Amino acid sequence: MFHIADEKDILQGKITDVYFERTLRVLKAKGVNPLVRAEFIAKSFPDCWPWAVFAGLEEVLHLLKGLPLSLRTVREGTVFYPFEPVMEIEGRYQDFCIYETALLGLVCQATGIATKAARFKRRADGRMVVSFGARRMHPVLAPMIERNAFIGGCDGVAVVKSGEVIGRDPMGTMPHAFIICMGSTVEALRAYDEVLEPRFKRVALIDTFLDEKFEALNVAEALGERLFAIRLDTPASRRGDFYRILEEVRWELDYRGFHGVKLFVSGGISEEDIPVLNPLVAAYGIGTSISNAPVVDYSMDIVDVEGRPLAKRGKFSGRKGLYRCTACGDRRVLPIQESPGGCTCGAEYEELLLTVLKDGEVLTEREDPTLIRERVLRETEGLSLS
Ligand SMILES: [Zn+2]
Repeated sequence: MFHIADEKDILQGKITDVYFERTLRVLKAKGVNPLVRAEFIAKSFPDCWPWAVFAGLEEVLHLLKGLPLSLRTVREGTVFYPFEPVMEIEGRYQDFCIYETALLGLVCQATGIATKAARFKRRADGRMVVSFGARRMHPVLAPMIERNAFIGGCDGVAVVKSGEVIGRDPMGTMPHAFIICMGSTVEALRAYDEVLEPRFKRVALIDTFLDEKFEALNVAEALGERLFAIRLDTPASRRGDFYRILEEVRWELDYRGFHGVKLFVSGGISEEDIPVLNPLVAAYGIGTSISNAPVVDYSMDIVDVEGRPLAKRGKFSGRKGLYRCTACGDRRVLPIQESPGGCTCGAEYEELLLTVLKDGEVLTEREDPTLIRERVLRETEGLSLS
């Protein structure tokens, strides 16, 4: 059997730290069940990220719908900063006590992946970024990982099931194993071209047997105009100066008139590599860096009990409003009863926390992942990465 929780386990609250289960038993025995509000904030982000992209809400709603709870959150794909409340759950504590572990897991990992993808997409400066890292993670997580990589800014996902989740065709080139089975890169490419439908772009993987430069010319001559790109997944042991290899391949292709053939790179590409490679590269396949993105450590803390502000030490009590100026982007966190008034720039503030669940009823339509992705691209434009 697979070592996984199924949907029922999660919905029944079995994915809970046992101390919540014990707490629930004691609270029930003593008849204590206050109406509380608990908020989700992150005090800091991993790797000194200055901002993060909120993600995971769709699954949170799937978990909470039908329960006697209400929820205010920012929209998925909204950029936020440390100490800003991004989600607030309201209800009798016994009704959601055992879900804290699962709720945090849903938003912490999704937010980390979406943010990392957004950072890659920013660095790629308009070039294509494809999620290739599902294979580094437990397969049960692949659709979640790639859905959040996509909304964060990846242009495509690799796994078939992930494509179904986001409503897009998955993207891919060809594996080394295919070329090895066929005996040569050119043979493999010719067979691919012969068998597969023209709507799949012809991208030749050229680092299997021979030197990248000569293999690039072989495939370009074999396929001519139909060759869309060549992909270099050159092993680290052979890479030397990867930029220089790419430059040489580009030169040789251009010299022979193959100006239209693009360069696609993959294999251990880090965020920092992207600006260096951008002048030569049209598309990136990003694996582990996105699928194994650091998580954003939200905490869930009670801030209000029976309508009165109350929070643990080190935590601002009370319900809050989160506001953003529609013109200059200035941000305010205020007690819920206070209005932000007008911004000093002359424009108005908008409230970012919206009620999406009321007494178990979902008030919002499911958002198309493509629209969430567009929000991320819009909101992260021009933001500093460090
Ligand atoms: Zn303003």
